[in-house]
Amino acid sequence: AATPSKSYTVTLLPGDGIGPEVISVARNALHLIASIEGIEFKFKEMPMGGAALDLTGVPLPEETLSAAKDSDAVLLGAIGGYKWDNNEKHLKPETGLLQLREGLKVFANLRPATVLPQLVDASTLKREVAEGVDLMVVRELTGGIYFGKPRGFGTNENGQEIGFNTEVYATYEIDRIARVAFETARKRRGKLCSVDKANVLEASMLWRKRVMEIAAEYPDVELSHMYVDNAAMQLVRNPKQFDTIVTNNIFGDILSDEASMITGSIGMLPSASLGESGPGLFEPIHGSAPDIAGQDKANPLATLLSAAMLLKYGLGEEKAAQRIEAAVLNTLDRGYRTGDIYSAGQKLVGCKEMGEEVLKSIDSKV
Ligand code: ATP
Ligand code: MG
Repeated sequence: AATPSKSYTVTLLPGDGIGPEVISVARNALHLIASIEGIEFKFKEMPMGGAALDLTGVPLPEETLSAAKDSDAVLLGAIGGYKWDNNEKHLKPETGLLQLREGLKVFANLRPATVLPQLVDASTLKREVAEGVDLMVVRELTGGIYFGKPRGFGTNENGQEIGFNTEVYATYEIDRIARVAFETARKRRGKLCSVDKANVLEASMLWRKRVMEIAAEYPDVELSHMYVDNAAMQLVRNPKQFDTIVTNNIFGDILSDEASMITGSIGMLPSASLGESGPGLFEPIHGSAPDIAGQDKANPLATLLSAAMLLKYGLGEEKAAQRIEAAVLNTLDRGYRTGDIYSAGQKLVGCKEMGEEVLKSIDSKV
């Protein structure tokens, strides 16, 4: 092999449940890609979640966070499981995930929803509606109503108990998520739809104003706006109209879950969380699936596609990313399926064998 032109440090956080199984597949794929593309990966595998709790007493040990911060990108498997479900609240494995996102200051969450031609029938929508859907939801992750102040409980003038939260967005928060979204759209089909509720909410009025302002930096991207109620409807009526969607924290929470159901297969869906300059965090959207953990049944494709996002959005290695995506499609074309996406007539395989078949596809595409 040629001497590597570029070297990247990638922190791997296998986590719990099926996490180690799917991360192992992704690691092998990245290793193979590196030798083909003439790049180098230095992997640092660190404990996180329940695995870290058992080992160190905390779900995100300091060494794990500092390794993550010092790397070029972070690939996470999954966190949590029955074993820790009755823990004290502050010792839950999931707390580690929040701390990691906070530590890496990742404010942009990217979730693609792609209906692969091989898996159209897994969609919850009719074939004609689902076929060809390929969209990306860019969700603001660290601001908005989940964090805004004032918040809390109180009493109103009638002595009634109240709960209240505040939707707040500052200019810089909107500008930076808008830039991530325009950059993302640029790497895709060049269309961005900003979703808000600017007919009612002041935070949304500012959102729309800033997004329009930032648009001037991206004349090559076609910008449109949609109210969130309409967007929720359009996503199931005609999802093909969307390329990239950008929206605030709470709307993005809801719309990205809605969009993921269009594809119908949780074992296929990757995600990326990006910050201003530091390493991005890449992970499948599924959980640790304790019901199938350790049984070699997990679908590794969501994690492989997360590794592809790591290459594309985290390292700018687009060609390497395409190799993984093409290999995933090729493996599905050759009929290989894990249990979650299996249908009659296909070849049912486990996590390891699926991974091996993807490696073969990567190899044969050289
Ligand atoms: P979270 O941990 O995010 O709260 P959860 O525990 O409700 O989510 P998951 O762990 O994602 O959910 O599992 C939900 C269901 O999907 C389970 O039956 C699990 O076995 C299945 N599942 C999840 N991921 C995969 C995968 N990669 N391959 C196959 N099946 C999966
Ligand atoms: Mg879970």
